[in-house]
Amino acid sequence: MPGAPIEQSCFWLARRQTGSRPIYEGPGEADVAVIGAGLTGLWTALFLKELDPDAEVVILEQEIAAYGASGRNAGMLSETVDHGHGLAIQHFGEAEARKLARLGEANVDETIAYLSERGIACDYEPTGRLVAALSASQVHEAQRSVATARRLGADGYRYLSREEMRAQVDSPIYFGGVEVRGGGILDPVKLVDGLMREAERVGVRIHERSRVESVRRDGAGVELRTARGRLRARRTVLATSAYTHQILPRIARRFIPLYDYILVSEPLTPAQRDAIGWRERQGVIDGRTFFNYYRLTADDRILWGTSEAVYYPGNRVDPGCDHSPAHYAALRSSFRRHFPALTSLDFPYAWGGPICSTTRLTPFFGQALGGRIVYGLGYTGHGLGTTRIAGRILAHLALDRWSDLLDLRMVRRKPFPYPPEPFRAWAVAAVTRALRRVDEGKRPSALLRLLDRFGIGFSS
Ligand SMILES: Cc1cc2nc3c(=O)[nH]c(=O)nc-3n(C[C@H](O)[C@H](O)[C@H](O)COP(=O)(O)OP(=O)(O)OC[C@H]3O[C@@H](n4cnc5c(N)ncnc54)[C@H](O)[C@@H]3O)c2cc1C
Repeated sequence: MPGAPIEQSCFWLARRQTGSRPIYEGPGEADVAVIGAGLTGLWTALFLKELDPDAEVVILEQEIAAYGASGRNAGMLSETVDHGHGLAIQHFGEAEARKLARLGEANVDETIAYLSERGIACDYEPTGRLVAALSASQVHEAQRSVATARRLGADGYRYLSREEMRAQVDSPIYFGGVEVRGGGILDPVKLVDGLMREAERVGVRIHERSRVESVRRDGAGVELRTARGRLRARRTVLATSAYTHQILPRIARRFIPLYDYILVSEPLTPAQRDAIGWRERQGVIDGRTFFNYYRLTADDRILWGTSEAVYYPGNRVDPGCDHSPAHYAALRSSFRRHFPALTSLDFPYAWGGPICSTTRLTPFFGQALGGRIVYGLGYTGHGLGTTRIAGRILAHLALDRWSDLLDLRMVRRKPFPYPPEPFRAWAVAAVTRALRRVDEGKRPSALLRLLDRFGIGFSS
C-alpha cells in the first residue's frame, strides 16, 4: 500500500504477528535505560543481561519495536562492518582492516548460531550474496575487490564472468560480478520480534509508545522523561540511530540521516522465476555508488531497493519522509532495465526508512553527560550484522567492563564532522551530483578527489 502509514506500507511490518508492549508509566528506576527498540537496543539489552544477569534493564521505544530502520530494511545479512575492505584499509590501516574482516565473519556465524540455539525463526536463508558489475570499469573494480578481500584473509570472495553471473541471475545488463560466501537473507521484523521475546525471557522490560522527551543529569545517574512518567537510571544507552540528534542535538555534526527507499512486488509465478533464474536466491547489490539492492522474499516476491538516499534538510527524520513517489518511479524504471522479461510485475508495497551515515561510512561510539549516556550509531546500510557488535560494545561501555572491541579504532576515533546547515544541504546535494556522474561512467570531479584525499565518503 504505497503512501500508507509505515505499519501498512512496509511489507515486513504489514505481515507482522505480535502483541504490543505496555506504555511506560513512571516513576521508576533502572540500572540501565535503553532508548530505542531496534536491533541496536535489543542486542545491547541482551548483552547487558549476559554481562550482569541481575541488572534492571528497561527499553523505551517511541513507537513500536522495529519502527525505525530495523523493521524497514532489505533483510540482507552480511559480514560487512567496514562498508568495504578497501575503505577499511584507507581509514584504519591494513592490520585493523584484517581485524574488522575477521570480526564481521565471526559475527555472522555467531548470529546464526544464536538464532538457532534460541529457536528464533526469521526465515533465514544462508544464500551468500552477489555483487553485480554493470560496466567494464565495475568489472575492474570487482576483480580488485576480490584481490583486496583475499589479501585481508577473507577467502569467500570469487570473481564471476558475465556468463557465470548471468547463470546465477539472468539480467542482460550484467558485465560480470563477485560471489560472496557467508551471510544471507532474512525477515528483519521476525528477527526483531525473536530478539524481543528473548530479551523479555531474560528479564528486560520493554515499553512501546513511550517516547523519551528528555534525558538530564540526576545526581550520579540520569532522569528520562516520557509523556507519562520519569525513569531514573544509572546509565542510558542511546540506540536511536538516525533519530539520535533529536535527543542529543550536538551529535548531528558527526552523522547525516538519509532515507533509502524500497519496493516489494507481488509473488512471482513459476514462469517469471524461470525467466530470471536466481535458483540460489542470493541477495544482490551492484557496483555503483548509488546501487540497487534486491532479493527474493520467502514467498518469492522481489524486494527492490536503492541506495540513492535522500537527505532532508535540517536533518529531518519523521513520517513525512517515509514515502517518495519520485524514488518509487525511479525504482520501477531501474527494475525494468534490469529485468525486461518482468516489465508487467506489480509492486504493491513501497516505503522508505532512515539510515545513519558518517563521513567514513562506519559507525562511531561515545559518551555524554560525563559517561552517564553512551551511544553508538552510523552503520549506513550494513546494520543488520553490525548492530550486534555495537550492542556488545555499548553493553560493555554502560557497565564499565573491558572488551577488546573497545580497542578498535572505529570505537576510539570519531569520524570527520559534516558541516552544519545551511552548508550541509548544499554539500550533500553537490556530492550527490558528483557521484551520480561517476555512476554514469564519468571521471571523479575535483570535489570528489579532494574529499577522497581527506577520506570523506557519502553513501547509504
Ligand atoms: C531501506 C533500508 C534498507 C536497509 N537494508 C539493509 C540490509 O539489507 N542489510 C543491512 O545490514 N542493513 C540494512 N539497512 C540498515 C539497518 O536496517 C540499520 O543499520 C539498523 O536497522 C539500525 O538499527 P538501530 O537499532 O540502530 O536503529 P533503528 O532500527 O532505526 O532503531 C532506532 C529506534 O529508536 C527509536 N527512537 C528514536 N528516538 C526515540 C525516542 N526519543 N524515544 C524512544 N525511542 C526512540 C525509533 O523509533 C527506532 O525504533 C537498511 C536500512 C534501511 C532504512
